[in-house]
Amino acid sequence: MGSITFHHVYKNYKGEQRPAVSDFHLTIEEGEFLVLVGPSGCGKSTTLRMLAGLEEITKGDLYIDGKFVNYLSPKDRDIAMVFQNYALYPNLSVYENIALGLKLRKTAKHEIELRVNRVAKILEISHLLDRKPSQLSGGQKQRVALGRAIAREPQVFLMDEPLSNLDAKLRAQTRAELIKLQSDLKRTTVYVTHDQVEAMTMGTRIVVMKDGVIQQVAPPRRLYDEPANLFVAGFIGSPQMNFVPGRVIREEGRYYFSGRRFKLPVPERHYGRFEHSERTLRNVVLGVRPEDVYVSRETVGEPAEGWARGQVEMSEVTGADGYVYVKAGDDTVIARTDSEDVYARHEGVVLGFNMNKVHYFDEETGVSLAAGGDRR
Ligand code: ADP
Repeated sequence: MGSITFHHVYKNYKGEQRPAVSDFHLTIEEGEFLVLVGPSGCGKSTTLRMLAGLEEITKGDLYIDGKFVNYLSPKDRDIAMVFQNYALYPNLSVYENIALGLKLRKTAKHEIELRVNRVAKILEISHLLDRKPSQLSGGQKQRVALGRAIAREPQVFLMDEPLSNLDAKLRAQTRAELIKLQSDLKRTTVYVTHDQVEAMTMGTRIVVMKDGVIQQVAPPRRLYDEPANLFVAGFIGSPQMNFVPGRVIREEGRYYFSGRRFKLPVPERHYGRFEHSERTLRNVVLGVRPEDVYVSRETVGEPAEGWARGQVEMSEVTGADGYVYVKAGDDTVIARTDSEDVYARHEGVVLGFNMNKVHYFDEETGVSLAAGGDRR
């Protein structure tokens, strides 16, 4: 129970030129924790609200458990939604807030009592049941809002930035609790956030959206290792992936990435991506994550093949790791270092890339020239 299918779904708001959501086409499996992530305005909430029945679908079909639900009212969908602003009733106690949905559904009184107490225990709010929302902290309010959704025991949970009103520490804690809760309850959960860290830690699968259009759907690790395009590559990961513009050239049977300051040998295992001659004629953006960039003090003589000279712009320490920002010509490249390696501003260094880990993107379309790009 709780599978969801979006079949080429569109949303056009009245008077708007561009659709808020375009051709959203996806099946969410039963029990899955699916995260919708993307910058503000990319259509995440609209998608969630169409699923909840709070927003009309302009075009396309929506199915829950194989049943066509486009015209089903929210209360008839077996769904509970948790919002960013808790939406608790101020005059009702915590107990009454959690019980309300069940009361409206004419659940028997003893059953309500049982469920509220069970949920309160899971969320560790049993001692707060007699309080009013105004007597609760932000974190406690959020638990009550979650409790209200859980008590209904719906097939599907929808959550729209439910943690964004909490401070950093409480957010991390509640995030961990939500992950545990979801894996215990095994209910299909669709979770909206603009925070890529939240998406990466919570989702079993992540949908990255931009301008109403799905960019990629993948489990977190694959999104990180095999971003389908420049947008996903830049959006997932912090500090973000380095991008260096250039082209791939062929010299004496070997391929090289040639940028303004870089001439880097392409590993043979990547040759397949460039054997279509037109690809070597196009401009390419090389993508490399900071952990795949090596930086070292400038040595005497010329750096070896594949290395480039640069100058330290700044360095920062974030705890165990440090990051050095190195300017090489017009390109700035961020490299992860040991936090004990301290570099001075303007210090001369050499930069090398782990070429086995680099990504190549078509500059014009932004599409990755990896497997996804090959299949086009
Ligand atoms: P997100 O949740 O990713 O921030 P939304 O789904 O809220 O994005 O919005 C997607 C797009 O639709 C945005 O351009 C937004 O301005 C527009 N939009 C959202 N709600 C409405 C509305 N009620 N009327 C018109 N446009 C809207």
